[in-house]
Amino acid sequence: MEKHAPHNINPLSENGYDFVDEPLFESLLNNKADSGYIRDIIGKSKNKQPLTLEETAALLNADEPEMIEHIFETARQLKKDVYGNRIVLFAPIYIGNYCTNDCLYCGFRRSNPDAVRRTLTTEELHEQVRNMLKMGHKRTIAVFGEHPLYSPEYIAECVRQIYSVQYRNDSIRRVNINAAPLSHEGYKIVKAAGIGTYQVFQETYHHATYAKMHPPGDASAPSLRSANRKADYLWRLDSAARAIEAGCDDVGIGALFGLANWKFEVLGLVAHAIHLMKHYRIGPHTISFPRIRPASGVSLKEVSEHDVCDQDFLRLIAILRLAVPYTGLIITAREPAPLREQALGFGVSQIDAGCRIEVGGYVESGDAQTQAATLSSSGQELKQVLERSQFELGDVRPLDEVIRQLLQDGYIPSFCTACYRLGRTGEIFMEYAIPGFIQDMCTPNALLTLQEYLVDFASSETQLAGEALIRQELAKIPNEKNRQDIAERLERIRSAGERDSYY
Ligand code: SAM
Ligand code: SF4
Repeated sequence: MEKHAPHNINPLSENGYDFVDEPLFESLLNNKADSGYIRDIIGKSKNKQPLTLEETAALLNADEPEMIEHIFETARQLKKDVYGNRIVLFAPIYIGNYCTNDCLYCGFRRSNPDAVRRTLTTEELHEQVRNMLKMGHKRTIAVFGEHPLYSPEYIAECVRQIYSVQYRNDSIRRVNINAAPLSHEGYKIVKAAGIGTYQVFQETYHHATYAKMHPPGDASAPSLRSANRKADYLWRLDSAARAIEAGCDDVGIGALFGLANWKFEVLGLVAHAIHLMKHYRIGPHTISFPRIRPASGVSLKEVSEHDVCDQDFLRLIAILRLAVPYTGLIITAREPAPLREQALGFGVSQIDAGCRIEVGGYVESGDAQTQAATLSSSGQELKQVLERSQFELGDVRPLDEVIRQLLQDGYIPSFCTACYRLGRTGEIFMEYAIPGFIQDMCTPNALLTLQEYLVDFASSETQLAGEALIRQELAKIPNEKNRQDIAERLERIRSAGERDSYY
């Protein structure tokens, strides 16, 4: 494996630095630690200190039920200490599914003849966003295939269009992006449009598996980089670093679990976080860990050789919580509702809800999610939905139902976007997060955005559950002056039509 010298904020780094040291990963994963060392690591985690690769590997190798339970308990505690009981909600918007790549696991891959290709027109995009706003969404992630159509200028324009849509004097308050890696110049262009997080998943950190899953493709294409850029492991590995160098200090990383050994992927994610922290003093804002789902034109047998069972999936979430205590963890609607509920306790801080993952899905599938309607039916109808989607969803509940369940489980559903809008991102965010400021600002902001949702969008059942939770949470705020101020803001939202109030 070719190694490059570590780049130290080198704005010209084209290929980046391969920090995935496979022989080291393998040897760490073959080394079982004694229980005393594991207890020391858990102690370090309790003090909210990020773990090294060696320490993360020791937790991954701890297979005894008693140790696993100890890791789960610590993850539960850390989640409470760092994030409180808030869960941030968002929904994806699929803008276009043309793609020049041929990722073996994806329904949008170039060679899938059944995929229904489409890019939203500006009018369609507006209509999609209006419908999301009508459901109560405030945060979205815009998703694109990799194609010359989706240039940085095009992505930036989509972001501007999304922000411009108004419904009842409100608009989407934060637009994140999930799209192909960009050059420095490209990242600067999308940053100028006001994006929140730029999210790119490495898919797999394992080099040989990466090569197998992302074949180089069409030899007649003008160049690898323009035709099937995803085959270039290092270009993708370096994308979060390039984004930071270009000024996008809010980056999301992830791995698609099932492609390679799950323990190896966890080490990859942690190595990535350590790399960014070491060179830029900014860790990833979020980590995602999707598991492969059935998709149109995809042979699961071929791509999902390292299927992760539910118990190991929960373990990996808990271990990530311990290893990177200040990084948000996202579990998406790929997973079924009961598993998502379990995962929330172990450290997940963000979920999507009420999602449509077809291009155009927020208008055309109406309020009853198409997939929900078709999951129970069989054959042709389901096939057609899948052909318009990237993959199959596991949790198709409407937003209101997800919010009600969160409330019943004692969580505060939050649509807060305050940090990003007040510039509390990147290194500054880390400064706020580490001494625990975030919790003081986040809980009040979560309550304010929940109050807005209850007044504007909730069913009567959800309203009752939400008002009860707000009363409980308000009573827990120790400082009387703060409590009074929050109570007054909540009342102005309820009775004076005040909106978008935040600390
Ligand atoms: N084209 C961009 C790229 O590849 O980065 C972004 C869009 S892609 C639509 C978003 C993510 O969906 C991918 O990074 C991959 O991890 C995930 N994905 C693809 N196929 C999937 C499947 N069958 N099941 C679950 N997740 C999948
Ligand atoms: Fe294209 Fe992304 Fe799907 Fe790969 S994962 S085929 S790059 S949309």
